[in-house]
Amino acid sequence: MSTTATILDAISADASTGRPIPDAATREIIGYAPEHTVADLDAAIAAAKAAQPAWAALSHEERSTILHAIADDIEANAEELAQILSREQGKPLDGPNARFEVGACAVWTRSAADTVLEPEVVFEDGAARAEIHYDALGVVGAIGPWNWPMMITVWQVAPSLRMGNAVVVKPSEFTPLSVMALMEIFTRHLPDGLLTVISGGRDVGAAMAAHSGLDKIMFTGSTATGRKIVESSAHNLARLTLELGGNDAGIVLPDTDMSGMMEDLFWGCFINTGQTCAALKRLYVHESVYDDVVEGLAAMAAQMPMGPGLAGGNVLGPLQNEKQFQIVSDLVEDAKSRGARVVVGGEPAADLGPLFYRATVVADIDDGARLVDEEQFGPAIPVIKYSDVDDAVRRANASEQGLGASVWSNDPDEAFKVATRLQAGTVWVNGHGGLNPAVPFGGTKASGYGKEFGAHGLKAVASPKVISR
Ligand code: NAD
Repeated sequence: MSTTATILDAISADASTGRPIPDAATREIIGYAPEHTVADLDAAIAAAKAAQPAWAALSHEERSTILHAIADDIEANAEELAQILSREQGKPLDGPNARFEVGACAVWTRSAADTVLEPEVVFEDGAARAEIHYDALGVVGAIGPWNWPMMITVWQVAPSLRMGNAVVVKPSEFTPLSVMALMEIFTRHLPDGLLTVISGGRDVGAAMAAHSGLDKIMFTGSTATGRKIVESSAHNLARLTLELGGNDAGIVLPDTDMSGMMEDLFWGCFINTGQTCAALKRLYVHESVYDDVVEGLAAMAAQMPMGPGLAGGNVLGPLQNEKQFQIVSDLVEDAKSRGARVVVGGEPAADLGPLFYRATVVADIDDGARLVDEEQFGPAIPVIKYSDVDDAVRRANASEQGLGASVWSNDPDEAFKVATRLQAGTVWVNGHGGLNPAVPFGGTKASGYGKEFGAHGLKAVASPKVISR
């Protein structure tokens, strides 16, 4: 028996009661997800409430030590976790994909353990003193998407535990096994009831968002679902961190020699086969270098190996699910029907499997096309020509989304000036999507609110309490 079976066996439901979960590339059934109900959710929240006070009563050092033990255990089981993730989500083992994601889980867990959040003195005049202390909130609900399922769950869970909260996790119905496998490692080190995974569909997510027993919802997913969660929070007043959709713009400034940055530009667009919230989703390139950038990007897209995740050497995989495959396909077809030029790709890679779509670069396209205006969340990048930087900035900012953005130039000062004008939670210079556990991350406008990572992230899962004396 392979070691992969060990964790899968521990988490997989019985075939007669569970929901079959396919390998995203081969469609072979890899396991069965439990179909938890709202009654299971109620029980998990009750258990979390019961376990939380004793956990909060531990010192920060004690909780940090446990988080480091969890990170050690993630590293010890990294290859098994990466294989489960690769099969269920579809991302290859190699490249910035499954092994990379599992590695990031350990890194972000350690960062949550090591980040210090001291009480802050906000007023002192000799006679009076006011301090802010950061207490645990209680029970946090963590609702996640299917694109980076393990890493995003760690972003939600590790800071919550670090601050003394209990957590109930609701993974995406598309990737429950990956999240359950990772959380199985976490629960080995935690008191009973403190952390539970409720594997269910959108109805269970909605019940969780509306639950009166939750003090906070950490949500990562689409803007449409985010809006529903805001509505629910009017009733239970749960605090919210919302990491929602993006339609990140990149701007290549005039006369930029991109030859040394082409690979970074490629991964900015195509990381996780484009299924990344803060990936580059529309690229504005000055007319002086337009043809070079289009050709360079297309050449890179044509040579990147795509195929089933477990087959070594692949760095691009399938779309994770049929709905997403259809969205990408529809947006590219719409671009074609408007006369845009498909430079490379532009069609399914049916020889590889039903959900594969070739890495696609679309040129001679403009704002107003669906591929530019909507979030494609897949391997198809529109490259738009512009002649005036002010106009490019205006078009980049015209989106209702504001997750990330980037500016590409050989002149760092000029790039910085343009970066200050872009409306986004993060603006990168000569890169796109690079994250650091100490640097706050989160969107603006319809991409959500609240920051994750570092001390900002710990504050987001804490209740600030002022003590005045
Ligand atoms: P989704 O909104 O369809 O689903 C996300 C989660 O919400 C799932 O677990 C789902 O079951 C649950 N859910 C569905 N209806 C719900 C409801 N009414 N109340 C509560 N929960 C509910 O999103 P998705 O398709 O899984 O993910 C893709 C989207 O996520 C993209 O738009 C992407 O940009 C975004 N995303 C954002 C970030 C970020 O950090 N900002 C990161 C990753 C993905």
